[in-house]
Amino acid sequence: MAQENTQTETPTGRSVLVTGGNRGIGLAIAQAFRENGDRVAVTSRSGEAPDGLFAVQADVTDAESVDRAFSEVEAAHGPVEVLVANAGITQDQLLLRMSEEDFTSVIDTNLTGSFRVLKRASKGMIRLKKGRVILISSVVGLYGSPGQINYASSKSGLVGMARSLTRELGSRNITANVVAPGYIDTEMTQALDEDLKKSYQKSIPAGRFAAASEVAGVVRWLASDEAAYISGAVIPVDGGLGMGH
Ligand code: NDP
Repeated sequence: MAQENTQTETPTGRSVLVTGGNRGIGLAIAQAFRENGDRVAVTSRSGEAPDGLFAVQADVTDAESVDRAFSEVEAAHGPVEVLVANAGITQDQLLLRMSEEDFTSVIDTNLTGSFRVLKRASKGMIRLKKGRVILISSVVGLYGSPGQINYASSKSGLVGMARSLTRELGSRNITANVVAPGYIDTEMTQALDEDLKKSYQKSIPAGRFAAASEVAGVVRWLASDEAAYISGAVIPVDGGLGMGH
């Protein structure tokens, strides 16, 4: 069931959908588009709406739930012109201890989940004759990380997804890019052990984790007219951590 928690006047811009936009990086991205004057919808598994945003309930592991969510967004805001596939999970474990379920559940949410929303969004974009797709990957996708074979596999797969989409639909005024954040201060990284956080910070040239808004600004720009000729790119937002990969 859709919920609106509107504090300001109804905006008139593009129909934007951010999966997992109820918290963390997704929420910052949704707020950035909202500030731009776009009509922003977020998905959350609970269906609860953050302040000032329109929310629909969706679980990206379930194609029917994704389809329902898109239909609600289309009814409220029109066909989705900007899709940000952001919903993601981690389930870390060293390879020898990683179960097949640990592996497939992360792939199902992060990679197949992105496929489900991308497939559903592409119908409307083809009809609109325009669209912007931004897939939220991670520095870990191309850099690798011990204990994250499942997560890194899911996130590097998004690069092939964006590039194949670019080759399939690039001539229809649809771009697809990957944003690869490094360590961002959200609930996902707050769960990390303090010593591990300090060792990560030492390895980041910028010497700090980033705020979610620093990722959001890049995503918003990739969906702007200024970035119309960028497609199939992997844009790092990682303080230099993964440079050269
Ligand atoms: P959070 O853990 O704070 O939020 C994750 C979001 O994904 C929540 O909105 C959650 O919804 C949603 N989600 C998870 N599983 C599903 C599902 N099956 N269906 C629908 N929504 C789901 O994560 P972050 O904000 O930190 O991360 C956002 C994205 O950025 C992820 O893809 C992550 O991999 C990536 N990333 C994060 C980095 C970081 O340092 N934080 C670094 C690099 C990449 P719900 O509230 O319902 O659980």
